Amino acid sequence: MSQQGYVAAPPYSQAQPGMGGYQGGFGPGPSQPLYGHYGGPPQAFSTPPTGMMKSPVSSAAAMPPPPVSSQYSPNVQQNGAHPQRYPAPPAVSAPYGQPPQSAYSSMASPVPPPTQQLTNQMSAMNLGSYGNAAPPTSPVAQQPFQTPPPPAMGQMAPGPQSPPPTMPMGGQSMAGPPMAGMGRPFPGPPPTGPGGFQQPGPGLAGPSGFPQQAGQFGGPMAGLQPGMPGAFPTAPGALAGPPQKKLDPDSIPSIVSRRLILLGVHTFTYQHTTLVILHFLILISSNASPRFIRCTTYSLPCTADLAKQCQVPLASIIKPFASLPKNETPLYVVKHGETGPVRCNRCKAYMCPYMQFIDGGRRYQCSFCNCVNEVPVFYFQHLDHMGRRVDFYERPELSLGSYEFEATMDYCKNNKPPNPPAYIFMIDVSYTNIKSGLVKLICDELKSLLEKLPREEGMESSAIKVGFVTYNKILHFYNVKSALAQPQMMVVSDTADMFVPLLDGFLVNYQDSRAVIYNLLDQIPDMFADTNESETVFAPVIQAGVEAFKEAECSGKLFIFHSSMPTAEAPGKLKNRDDKKLVNTDKEKMLFQPQKGVYEQLSKECVAQGCCVDLFLFPSQYVDLATMADVPSHTGGSVYKYSNFQMETDGEHFLRDLRKDVQKSIGFDAVMRVRTSTGFRATDFFGGIYMNNTTDIEMAAVDCDKAVTVEFKHDDTLSEETGAFMQCALLYTTISGQRRLRIHNVSLNCSSQLSELYKSCETDSLINFFAKSAYRAILNQPLKNVREILVNQTAHMLACYRKNCASPSAASQLILPDAMKVFPVYMNSLMKTAPLVGSTELSTDDRAHQRLSVMAMGVEDTQLLLYPRLIPLHNIDVSSEALPAPVRCSEERLSESGVFLLENGHSMFLWLGQATSPDLIQGIFNLPSLAHLQANMCALPELDNPLSSKVRAIISGVLEKRPSSMKLQIVRQRDKPEMLFRQFLVEDKGLHGGASYMDFLCYVHREIRQLLT
Ligand SMILES: [Zn+2]
Repeated sequence: MSQQGYVAAPPYSQAQPGMGGYQGGFGPGPSQPLYGHYGGPPQAFSTPPTGMMKSPVSSAAAMPPPPVSSQYSPNVQQNGAHPQRYPAPPAVSAPYGQPPQSAYSSMASPVPPPTQQLTNQMSAMNLGSYGNAAPPTSPVAQQPFQTPPPPAMGQMAPGPQSPPPTMPMGGQSMAGPPMAGMGRPFPGPPPTGPGGFQQPGPGLAGPSGFPQQAGQFGGPMAGLQPGMPGAFPTAPGALAGPPQKKLDPDSIPSIVSRRLILLGVHTFTYQHTTLVILHFLILISSNASPRFIRCTTYSLPCTADLAKQCQVPLASIIKPFASLPKNETPLYVVKHGETGPVRCNRCKAYMCPYMQFIDGGRRYQCSFCNCVNEVPVFYFQHLDHMGRRVDFYERPELSLGSYEFEATMDYCKNNKPPNPPAYIFMIDVSYTNIKSGLVKLICDELKSLLEKLPREEGMESSAIKVGFVTYNKILHFYNVKSALAQPQMMVVSDTADMFVPLLDGFLVNYQDSRAVIYNLLDQIPDMFADTNESETVFAPVIQAGVEAFKEAECSGKLFIFHSSMPTAEAPGKLKNRDDKKLVNTDKEKMLFQPQKGVYEQLSKECVAQGCCVDLFLFPSQYVDLATMADVPSHTGGSVYKYSNFQMETDGEHFLRDLRKDVQKSIGFDAVMRVRTSTGFRATDFFGGIYMNNTTDIEMAAVDCDKAVTVEFKHDDTLSEETGAFMQCALLYTTISGQRRLRIHNVSLNCSSQLSELYKSCETDSLINFFAKSAYRAILNQPLKNVREILVNQTAHMLACYRKNCASPSAASQLILPDAMKVFPVYMNSLMKTAPLVGSTELSTDDRAHQRLSVMAMGVEDTQLLLYPRLIPLHNIDVSSEALPAPVRCSEERLSESGVFLLENGHSMFLWLGQATSPDLIQGIFNLPSLAHLQANMCALPELDNPLSSKVRAIISGVLEKRPSSMKLQIVRQRDKPEMLFRQFLVEDKGLHGGASYMDFLCYVHREIRQLLT
């Protein structure tokens, strides 16, 4: 088994000399001095680079996922021969010859009105809903940072200052005096007097058009005492530090406000808009869209020393199959016939916009390894006076960041074209599942769902084959050949040596066999209606699926619907090893580690065959999810869990998941390689993947929601002139059985100035990386150590910024890089997540489940998980299309008379304040008062009034957007189930341990001050 899945390779374990002490895993014991493992702080801070006193306000980098900020630094020119690295699209469209898809001209032709396009781009990218990056700023927006602070307030000693997020539209949309309060903590003298979080200057009415909720600029301030009691001790018991002087919570950086700001892009003036649009044009021309690849920073430090000094992880989060909205052009497929794609002879990188053509077009230099290659005869083309091929715009691989190549036989197993993939539905028909009605529910649903199997664009029906298995202690296979009048069952009771008893008729085309399949699905619930069998097997079920795929020589996916721990005598039999006594001990990691052996071997076989496993679990007690989910989590599969499944409350929730899952866009039998230009390389990988060696990322399947996080390390010095390149190549089989190569390219800036790195950081990507690395580390490390590393690294990253990039200011000020202002709130939330909190009240299976789910998540999903959306519904404008503005996730934002919707992609709550007005209750529930509300309600009644329609539309809109479904839980203020809801108020102190956001900021600030002295 590759170490990727089982051995926590600590994120810094491959550290360069000087980072020793990490070999033991994620970090040092708590007794060691802070940062001892980082090689000691003194060196780290000894050489503040010169010329770094500029305002920390980011420029290009502040734009959401900005792969390139080079448009602002004209000296960066990576393409040698191309005078302009990112030429503007041609005025006249030049459609590609071969691709049948919609005209490429839509990208190359004159763009829609700038404001319109920007709005489209932004909204299409869900920036509004995720707030996934720092807002764009402009030179105008920087101005406030140079203004002197307003008179300080309060009587406290100068406290840490965390600047409120910059407001990009500030310069333009809000006339009036400069916003004196904004960004004060940046350049400029420290407050003349006391005062921690500052009150804003005048004129800060908030973004016009947006509710003034979460107004982080308002309210009186109290100072923040830097030396306040530790807010994040490691033992949960100690977390309840004494209450501090009341600070205005509005004054600390807010994620919510960022989301608002991003929604407000349409208020930009033309000048500003132009900048932003340029950005997007560049983005779609030669860099992969941030939908596909996002980076922790878009400006790499030139040397390993710099990287070590700042401790900012260098990583990319790659979602190779990310869904594209309908208004974005699908990827072009380049067909080179039998010759296949053009590749560098030495490093095998694929032809891409970064290759430099020379010698009149007869040769090209690889930008990854610098090797000079002959251009194949069929591919020759003349260069224009700029040194660019004249067919530049006609070839996606020369001008676009993402595209596909048709793969030749060389890329197929055994030099044979692959067969279309198959989906096998494997239903546990033991007593529990029959009794709950689940089996019937699944069978009924499949009848309609199978009509909607994914199909290739332009094809009439899906090429995916389907097969059916039922099981308890033994397995039943079904022959559903179209020629049969009745399905035939074949039983295999020898689960020790699993085989598939029939070849012909097991995997069939649904359209051909529809009648027989219908017949089967009707019969299954009846066949087992009287079963008493409660024992199940599990590993043999997966084994059967792999064997079927082997015999059919295809890849595909198993959909397993399973209820209990597999205790029947068979390979992969499990026993209860849940032990709450291990919680908060050094052995806690055992709860997360899967049982070795059978499942490990199965993962390997599945990946080799391209067999993805999706597991739908319906447990009523502990099932050892860590082990049962082991195969799914190495095969690009998903695990869904419905504890104590009840038809009425969970049925629809489950069906929504199943429908989404079956219809997802997906590729099979995939292998991905990430190539980089010289000087750095991919060293570590996180995801639903399998690694047989150190470079090939194998995935039995990869769907539109799965992401792989890749960490990079230097192995040489990077050049500011040429920048750095990255190419991600994914070889896979399409749903119709074609072999394809999907290529995503990204170019990054390199700088010897750390300020550039901090400017270009992306907090959402950083937190994705930290979540995955921490969740892997807990397989080998005590939680306490892992949490400590997270805090230490947070402090270190921020201290390094303070030391090297920020203007001199009082130590009492907390200064955060503009692009990382909300990093602490995410980090604090991460440390309070179930896997990282040692609490006996949390279910071991739930913790393991969350751990594994996060490992394959993309940036938007980790972000939402760590900072839920809390939407007030009590004052919505029913006539407006817009979603009400979310508020900060804190109890303080709730009100007795309020109604709030909270969702994080996994859980969804409708919270009702005790004093909710009867009108609201009537409008939403058709009930006279809250007291009439039934406890187990999980859907809103469909009432014919505007409020009901609006609320239901909001909920279904949210459900549609998320990768998996959520069960709506309705909770009343002060009812017992409210506790479930409260754990998602991530700015407050954790229910199971963990500091409040405010306490955490104070704690981190204290750590930073220690590092700086
Ligand atoms: Zn090369």
